[in-house]
Amino acid sequence: MKVSKIFLYDEPAVQEIQISNLKNFLQETFHVDIEIKKCIFNNLDGKTIEKISGCRIFDPKMPFKEHLPNKQEIDFEKSVCEDTKLMEKTTMVENAERIEDVVMYDGFKVQNIIYDIITKNDSATNNLHIVFTNRLICTYDTTDSRYHGRAVICSNPSIISTTGMIEAPARPREYYFEAMKRKMQGLDIQDVKKNYNGEFLDYHDKRLSKIAEGYLLQAIFYYMTGDVFCDSLDCRLNNAHWQKDLLYSQLKIGKLCNKHQALLDKLHL
Ligand SMILES: [Zn+2]
Repeated sequence: MKVSKIFLYDEPAVQEIQISNLKNFLQETFHVDIEIKKCIFNNLDGKTIEKISGCRIFDPKMPFKEHLPNKQEIDFEKSVCEDTKLMEKTTMVENAERIEDVVMYDGFKVQNIIYDIITKNDSATNNLHIVFTNRLICTYDTTDSRYHGRAVICSNPSIISTTGMIEAPARPREYYFEAMKRKMQGLDIQDVKKNYNGEFLDYHDKRLSKIAEGYLLQAIFYYMTGDVFCDSLDCRLNNAHWQKDLLYSQLKIGKLCNKHQALLDKLHL
């Protein structure tokens, strides 16, 4: 699909993505017009906020079931839409005793709502919209019958979750064992994290901007070419399942493999 313009919706709670740097990066890479828009979740009407609240997942082992939010949940959604920073006050994945305590959303359902919000004002099919959010978006996987956190949902609109970048690709196995042990003793996990200095992304990590570039490439390549992800670790389109691989492909390698670079060059012709 041809793209005439790309709209990037900011996540103001995560300044580290450095949205204006991302704009420059995309302009240099794709030579298309890029426009930065404010957070998509601001100034929504009550009905839309209620619908977003209805996308929450309460049992990750069950496929999506429409949830009828109560007043408290709608009030929460309203405040977190206005000030996305408030999401940081909720239980983080790494601190959760039960994963059900984390605020999670069905990514495809949220994507449908964002689609409706955007198409109300823009019906140009050649515009690609990419939304950054700190919400944890998940998709249900039928192969193991449970929801998994996602960093990116490729489509139009695409969603890139900063929390997903940090939590979806796994940290080292040993880290989880050590962290679990500390939690069971009622101790803080920060010391354990220190032992893994820089081996995985943390909240408000300075590397998030570079990592976001990779996920933007994945969303845009998918839209333009229909080509989803690359098997090679030496390519920024690699769909990392481990933090180690994510940091390797996006930071150490930091470029496309030959095949995908050739594809990009062809797009410019
Ligand atoms: Zn590749």
